Formats: sequence, structure tokens, C-alpha cells
Amino acid sequence: MKRRVSIFGATGSIGQNTIDLIRRAPDDYDVVALTGAGNIAQLAADAIDLGADIAITAHDARLDDLRAALQGSGVRAAAGTNAIREAATRPADWVMSAIVGAAGLAPGVEALKQGATLALANKESLVCAGRLMLETAQTHGAAILPVDSEHSAIFQALIGEDMAAVERIIITASGGAFRDWPLEKLADATLDQASSHPNWDMGQRITIDSASMFNKAMEVIETHEFFNIDPARIEVLVHPQSMIHALVGFNDGALMAHVGPPDMRHAIGFALHHPHRKHLPVERLDLAKIGSFEFRTPDEIRWPALRLAREVMERGGMAGAVFNAAKETALDGFIDGRLRFPQMAEVVEDVLTQLNSDTGLIDATMTLDNVAQVDHLAREAAQAVITKRAG
Ligand code: NAD
Ligand code: MG
Repeated sequence: MKRRVSIFGATGSIGQNTIDLIRRAPDDYDVVALTGAGNIAQLAADAIDLGADIAITAHDARLDDLRAALQGSGVRAAAGTNAIREAATRPADWVMSAIVGAAGLAPGVEALKQGATLALANKESLVCAGRLMLETAQTHGAAILPVDSEHSAIFQALIGEDMAAVERIIITASGGAFRDWPLEKLADATLDQASSHPNWDMGQRITIDSASMFNKAMEVIETHEFFNIDPARIEVLVHPQSMIHALVGFNDGALMAHVGPPDMRHAIGFALHHPHRKHLPVERLDLAKIGSFEFRTPDEIRWPALRLAREVMERGGMAGAVFNAAKETALDGFIDGRLRFPQMAEVVEDVLTQLNSDTGLIDATMTLDNVAQVDHLAREAAQAVITKRAG
């Protein structure tokens, strides 16, 4: 029987890698919905090629363009945030959540409510609303499979294991574009420099987040939420080659490492075929040729985001939603040229300090509406900090 699949964020880096895998076995899948934002030509071409039922752009103003691009194909067109959320209520067996940012949360929750298996690349969902995601999955008999290389690696290392025997989880970080830069040069880092990753080919936002380690900070929170492990047992290790993705340390001293090439089609394919393993078109590593792997302790002066992640986990409640929204706004500030690279972390820290003491806000019940409210206030607070700093 064909599996019904939907891809949210189909035009992005993860979305395109997912489509690459689906296209290799088109007879196995029935494509329900594909979503994108500004890249209408790509969205329409993929929707037609894969025979999707519906294609949706996040931008209301692009509906006519999408309709025109889909004309005569039989693929329906829709636009807007609500249409994307509605598309997640269409029955599907497997749903890829690969929208970037907090915008990925609501469609992911809807897909879980339908009982779908959610392949979760959108780590922001777990950072903003981990408990809500996991509880929704449990209530509706849905599964979440991580599609972050580190979390897929941890998941794989834990198969057949007892969580009670896990002493620690180590996630690796390449160190991003500025790993070896002198600290005093960071204030002059340009957008172009921050947008080039030494090992991975990813969307621009996560690439910049890799240079600042906000990506790793989010992944530490993601690990804490998804695997329900105490923050003190989560370690970050700089590993410039990006081939060991994570390690799980057990109470008998064993460390189980997951080793593979830096290619997201592994984590995507693992989630697509779970609980089976199938052939995947990724490079086979020649370890003798690679010769050696390097490891270092991350420097928290260079990467204050790691310290902030610990503060967020200690604070609990909806502090993760504050952290993510402040980070997204600060990242926009860097992309627009209003903030220097190191100022992103300063803005996030300011916003955390401002909002975390508001217990009425942060400790309210975690619902989609309340998370949206926290997200909104944190973005406003971050904008105010940015304006003050710029002025
Ligand atoms: P990307 O920027 O390449 O693609 C993002 C997708 O989201 C695109 O389809 C875009 O059209 C869509 N989108 C953007 N804003 C939107 C909005 N407001 N509403 C609806 N759709 C919107 O990003 P990416 O690198 O593919 O990353 C996607 C997600 O996967 C992120 O959460 C990222 O952290 C995570 N992730 C990515 C990688 C990677 O290798 N790229 C690895 C691990 C995790
Ligand atoms: Mg990752």
C-alpha cells in the first residue's frame, strides 16, 4: 500500500532532500500536501511532478502566481498561514515538518492530532513547546521521529536500550564558520562569512545559527525535551569533521557513537523508513582515508548561546519560546545589518532577563495560544532592545 506523505517546508534544504528520497521510489508514496513560501516555481514544479493533491504558499499575496503555475495540472493551490495549518489536518501517514522557525509549530501539532508520524526537522517546535508536542503525540497515538542529525543519532544509539542506564548524551558541533576566528574579529563578521558552513549545506538561518552556536543551544534544549534527560547530563563537544553526530554514554562506561557523512538524507531517510533500514544514497565513509577525528571543549565566551540554553532549561515553563523568538528576531537583526554578530546573544540574554521573571506569562499552561502570546511579546521585547542598541 502506498504511504500518504506531506512535506511542510518542501522548498527548503530539508524539504528538497526529502523530495529527493521520495522521487527515487515514487510508486511507494501518495503525496498529499507540499508547502513553501516565496519560491513558487519550485513549489509548483515539485507538486506537479509528485502529483500532490494541494500546494500551499505561506504568502497570501502569491496565491495568483501559484494558481498560474499550477494551471491545468490538477494540483489545488492555497495560500496563507491558516491554509498551511489546515493542510496538516489532511490525512497523511508520514509528515515532514521542515518549515524554518516558530511557524512550524502549529502545523506540526495539527499533524500529530491526526495521528500521523511526524518527522521533525523543525527543532523550534521542541524548543518552544516540547511538552505540548510530546503530550499531543501521546494523546493521539502519533509518533515523533527526530530529523536533526544529532537527535537521529541519539535515537538510533538508544534502540533496544533502557533510558535508566544512560549516564550522559554528548552532541557534537562543527563549530561553524567562526570556530577558529580570533574573538576580537567576531564583531566584524559579515553576513556572507556567517552564511557559509564548513561541512553542511543548509538553509541560511540554521547556517548562521551554527556559527553563533544558537543552533547547538537549541539542540541541547531539543535533547532535553525529546529524550527527557536532565540538562546536567547533556554535553556539547566540538568535532570539526561533523562525522560523529552524537554519542550516548551508558552506566557501564560504554559510549555508543553514531558515525556517518554530513548528509541530512541519512536522518530523513531513517525517519522515512523507520522501523526498517533501507538503502540510502549517501556517501560511505572511508575511515582510513579520513585518518583522525578531532574533539574540543566548546568555549562559552565565544559561544554564549550554550550558557543561555542552560538558563532556559533551568527556568522551564515557556522560557524556550522566549529564547527562540528572541533568537529569531536577533537573527533578523543581524541579517538586516542592524546588529553585529556578537550582539545577537546580548539581545537574547536581555530579553530572557526581562521576561523570565514574569511568572504569569512564562508559567501559564502551555497551549498553542499561550506559546504564540509569549512568542509575540518576546519578539516585541527583542525589537525594542535592537532599536535601543542601534540608536
Ligand atoms: P530553509 O530555509 O532551507 O527552508 C525553510 C522552508 O520553510 C522553506 O520551504 C520555506 O519556504 C519555508 N518557510 C519559511 N518561512 C516560512 C513561514 N513563515 N511559514 C511557512 N513556511 C515558511 O531551512 P532548512 O535548512 O531546510 O531548515 C528547516 C528546518 O529544519 C529548520 O527548523 C532547521 O532548524 C531544521 N534543520 C535543518 C537542517 C539542514 O540541514 N538544513 C538540519 C537539521 C535541522
Ligand atoms: Mg543538528
